[in-house]
Amino acid sequence: MARTILVVEDEQAIADGIAYALRTDGFAPLHVTLGEQALAAMRGEGGGPVPELVVLDIGLPDMSGLEVCRRLRQFSDAPVIFLTARSDEIDRVVGLEIGADDYVTKPFSPRELVARIRVILRRMAPPAPRAVDAAAGNGAHHAAAQPGAPAAPASRQVAGLELRALEARILYCGQALDLTRYEYLLLKTLIEHPGHVLSRAQLMDRVWTGASDTLDRTVDAHVKSLRAKLRAVAPDADPIQTHRGLGYSLACA
Ligand code: CA
Repeated sequence: MARTILVVEDEQAIADGIAYALRTDGFAPLHVTLGEQALAAMRGEGGGPVPELVVLDIGLPDMSGLEVCRRLRQFSDAPVIFLTARSDEIDRVVGLEIGADDYVTKPFSPRELVARIRVILRRMAPPAPRAVDAAAGNGAHHAAAQPGAPAAPASRQVAGLELRALEARILYCGQALDLTRYEYLLLKTLIEHPGHVLSRAQLMDRVWTGASDTLDRTVDAHVKSLRAKLRAVAPDADPIQTHRGLGYSLACA
């Protein structure tokens, strides 16, 4: 059965272009123009299948796409790709912890968008068991199911951090961190390579697989939010070290 993709876009011409590209590629597009309609569709209120991924315009008539995503994250981990019209919107997408998976700047090629949708859907398969969902809380569970990843030890401890890969959770000083998916993957990657300096490009590769044109500052923005969460646990420690012009590493101590 075709996988349903929700397209939330109030400009008919853009929505038509996306819907056409989706159908051509074997997806089933579901188009709505309002944020409220998008949330209803994701709650399964339309009666049809709940869409597996959301293409979300930021400038909607009833509420901002950012607000739609924030509300969506309260009940769904479905991937979100933002459509942005202006560069200051991009800063808000990458800088805020709203759990976006990717963004596309208008004007864009609908075929390129569909290619990215394929990458994201491939990355999240196969779905993790529901028990892990409950433990991971806010979306980190996608990380538990990385296809092709070597079998990792179930638990790993470094610099006061404890990675519980099977639970898709990370503890810091014994306290479970409430991480977004990318924060989880970023910190997990650092924990798996203690003491190694990983460039932003390498982190991109491991964390944002397929999102080749995502910017360095995406990594920086997520490192920043990760540090804030670590500081909330241990204000004086900073286990993530910045290597100017190179990347990041986790202190081995
Ligand atoms: Ca719009």
